[in-house]
Amino acid sequence: MTAPNIETIVSLAKRRGFVFPASEIYGGLGSSWDYGSLGVELANNIKQSWWRWLVHERDDIEGLDSSIIQNRLVWKYSGHETTFSDPLVDCRACKGRFRLDKLQDVNCPKHPSVHPGDDKECDLTEAREFNLMFRTTVGAVSSEDDESALAYLRPETAQGIFINFANVLNTSRRKLPFGIAQIGKAFRNEVTPGNFIFRTREFEQMEMEYFCRPEDAPRIQQEFIDGFLDWFDSVGILRENLKLYEQTPEELAHYAERTVDILYRFFPEREDEEKQFDELMGIANRKDFDLKAHSKKPEDAEGKRLNQDSTEDLSYFDEQTKQRFYPYVIEPAVGVNRTLLAVLMDAYSEKTNEKGETRVILKLKPELAPIKVAVLPLAKNKPEIVAMAKNLKKQLLPVMRTVYDDTGGIGKLYARQDEIGTPFCVTVDHESLEDNAVTVRDRDTWEQERIKVSELKEYLRKRLD
Ligand code: ATP
Repeated sequence: MTAPNIETIVSLAKRRGFVFPASEIYGGLGSSWDYGSLGVELANNIKQSWWRWLVHERDDIEGLDSSIIQNRLVWKYSGHETTFSDPLVDCRACKGRFRLDKLQDVNCPKHPSVHPGDDKECDLTEAREFNLMFRTTVGAVSSEDDESALAYLRPETAQGIFINFANVLNTSRRKLPFGIAQIGKAFRNEVTPGNFIFRTREFEQMEMEYFCRPEDAPRIQQEFIDGFLDWFDSVGILRENLKLYEQTPEELAHYAERTVDILYRFFPEREDEEKQFDELMGIANRKDFDLKAHSKKPEDAEGKRLNQDSTEDLSYFDEQTKQRFYPYVIEPAVGVNRTLLAVLMDAYSEKTNEKGETRVILKLKPELAPIKVAVLPLAKNKPEIVAMAKNLKKQLLPVMRTVYDDTGGIGKLYARQDEIGTPFCVTVDHESLEDNAVTVRDRDTWEQERIKVSELKEYLRKRLD
């Protein structure tokens, strides 16, 4: 089962402490969200899963953590200063401001049953380009407009990787093909953010730039497309809710040879099946655009340097063929927040108990679950039971994230753990004091098993794997 819509997840997320509206006590800040105790654990587990899969298990990818604020020249030569913009239109009638290419995704504020531009009263201006980069100034400056101190919050993590290509190559002694991976915040002054954490102005990306020979790029790109479908499966995102989308020549970025987006069914409630899907990630063949753009060597037809400021040549020397060239780059770029939303939507399920009540179960993969085990005392007024339960929690804690909870009756405690996706509850009861055994309850089947305390850790570890 999948959540029927994003709203279901918004309310669960707030009720249980995954995600809260940011700056809420001051009236909020458009489309900003704070991650609560469970949300931050879930996001960390998603990032860890991605990092382990790419950086640790493959052994041909290095990690990196570059600065959010870089020299402004990075964004000049990457092309962001001139081309990282969205076409913006204003409506003279309703005073709304919209992205020209997303008019069909939003409703007119004055006539919510139609899209902007579709009502006879709508009066849209000509489109103008709006740069999405957040500007700031670095150091103590005399004026906010001081161009010499101008800097940007990075709108993507990728450029931090390209400008470190030579550093990583030289220190890791890698040979092609190899990749550099980075997870971090990115900032875009989006014209129309919205749909919960789907589109925000501050978000987190997991990007990897894989450097290879030009002739290998098409094959490697296809391998990452297939690989990411497998990774999404491993974190519990259903294949039936994913779709591949091949960008058309008109949609392709100027530097890209081929880009395939993996779309997720973020909007299952929409009638038109096509509109149910939106981008979860993109996998682009960026050719040699980025390394060339940041290099001091390349020249135009008249012999003038294309990059006047770089001090480095980011080309690669192949020892075998004795040739120097700029590697091609395959870039799988995925959003942490969109992945988290998709994971929550596909983990969402409902089950009816014997009293006919509907219960929510979050069937998260154990690897992603914020809490792996909850230890619950059947009677919180019995000191021996409480002591045994607290002791068990202490024993399990170093091996798996375990919590102790006695804040309600057992039915309520089970329901709470089901709703936040805890795979196992361990209940200590009166009998436990006699037989040194506890009841282990499975989140998904609600089946209970009696397990000896001496075997508990091993039993849970196996089941969690
Ligand atoms: P979109 O077309 O939805 O604006 P994009 O193609 O500009 O996205 P990329 O630049 O390819 O996005 O960034 C890679 C990934 O980062 C996206 O697939 C998405 O998961 C995530 N992402 C991009 N912009 C946002 C945002 N404003 N809020 C949340 N996640 C985002």
